[in-house]
Amino acid sequence: MTFVIFHPPQRRSQHLWISQVPAAHCNGLPDTANHQPMKTYKFCQSCGYPMKKDKQGGGTEKDGTRSARYCSMCYQDGRFLSPPEVDTAEKMQKFCISQMKKSGINGLLAWLATRSIPRLERWKKVSA
Ligand SMILES: [Zn+2]
Repeated sequence: MTFVIFHPPQRRSQHLWISQVPAAHCNGLPDTANHQPMKTYKFCQSCGYPMKKDKQGGGTEKDGTRSARYCSMCYQDGRFLSPPEVDTAEKMQKFCISQMKKSGINGLLAWLATRSIPRLERWKKVSA
């Protein structure tokens, strides 16, 4: 059995670096509110799914706002869609693998896709 992992070539865009130079007119803005900037995540913090690939661009909070933390398959209307008995990283891994297998994904691939789950934010608090 052969197993191939594809590494898409990712060339660093020069424009990206240019756009990161702070604009002069942004300086001098009072920042006394001490509000936390909206944190964005590359991966869903529940299942590890790449947020970029999420067709809906993320799950939704109770008030309908977009969740930057969880994907649309895990989180809708401020609630997790996974069954209540799935309450640890290990169970979530098994749950995700079984879901992926149902949609015809190779078991090894499914395992690879879910092995980062114990490091995601949703599950960190449980072990702490
Ligand atoms: Zn997810």
